[in-house]
Amino acid sequence: RAYLDNNATTPTDPRVVNEMLPYFSEKFGNASSRNHAYGWEAKEAVDHAREQVAELIGANPSEIIFTSGATESNNLALKGLLNKGDHFITCATEHKAILDPAESLAAQGIDVKVLSVQPAGLLEINAFKNAISEHTRLVSIMMANNETGCIQPVKELSAIIHSNQGLFHSDATQAVGKTPVDVNELGIDLMSFSSHKMYGPKGIGALYIRKGTKVGSIIEGGGHERGIRSGTLNVPAIVGFGKACELCKQEMQEAEKIKSLRDKLEQSLLSIEGTQLNGVIENRLPNVTNIAFTGVDGERLLLSLNGLAVSQGSACTSAVVEPSHVLKAMGIPDQLANSSLRFSLGRFTTEDEIDFAIQKVTAAVNKLSA
Ligand code: PMP
Repeated sequence: RAYLDNNATTPTDPRVVNEMLPYFSEKFGNASSRNHAYGWEAKEAVDHAREQVAELIGANPSEIIFTSGATESNNLALKGLLNKGDHFITCATEHKAILDPAESLAAQGIDVKVLSVQPAGLLEINAFKNAISEHTRLVSIMMANNETGCIQPVKELSAIIHSNQGLFHSDATQAVGKTPVDVNELGIDLMSFSSHKMYGPKGIGALYIRKGTKVGSIIEGGGHERGIRSGTLNVPAIVGFGKACELCKQEMQEAEKIKSLRDKLEQSLLSIEGTQLNGVIENRLPNVTNIAFTGVDGERLLLSLNGLAVSQGSACTSAVVEPSHVLKAMGIPDQLANSSLRFSLGRFTTEDEIDFAIQKVTAAVNKLSA
């Protein structure tokens, strides 16, 4: 068996699990309980985790708001900032966790512009400049694409929007932990990221909010997280997320090993006749490759890859397999998009798994295209 679907989710690092365990049992306190040691202990753990999370992205701990994950962080950034009449710019290859809230905001009177991308998946800087107006309050452009790994020129884009008095949000879910991300160097005002993509537990993530940026809440209640996100803090998950961030910072050089395994896989698969790479070779995440197998039905291919966990990067709605909106936006025809698979590696990927994947995919493609 081989697990090459780390962009969907990663296994929780055993060191993270260990760190979390006491917070389910003996250290079970509510971080908001102010008048006893159970509460203080939980609050201390949350404070420490907030520092670990902030440290990974070069932020101040007070700029981190814990959420249930990147979907919520994206919703909070967009809905907490945009008001009727505001202009908002995003792009067609974003995750649905940006595109769907953008659509509902458009229905509420926010002026939403969804930019197209170049065939390599990158935004065109001039088109971006032209889209900006004096009403542009917020821009949201992802750091790295979940399907292709393509990295957007975030630093350039944020500089442009800042010279026009707007704010820059980035969905950095796939970038944080895999590649160095520093919010100050990149000029980011708000940033979403998620624990379960970086060897932490599921159901926890963060929104970075630059000091001085006013964001309204979408979940109201007891006033937790500076009133921006109410609800009793999930202490074990927060502790795990913090540890996961610390480990990613310590082990950032693991990207080299992951990249060399990815390159081995990619080169072997691209040597099969009729295959091509979707997206760019340069400027992408070290752990992912997205490959089109011309003439081979992606769904059948997936079904014949017994024991190999990869993904088609397309959403199945009832009986219909929709081609990936990301590949579509890159100008890849539906049929080729449906013949494409995403392979995403991680910290625990072994050379044996790569060899297994090469053998499985090669055999399946040969059989299906015969
Ligand atoms: N944005 C991107 C780019 C993602 O890849 C994902 C996860 N597929 C999300 C947002 C959603 O993250 P979460 O599962 O933490 O809600």
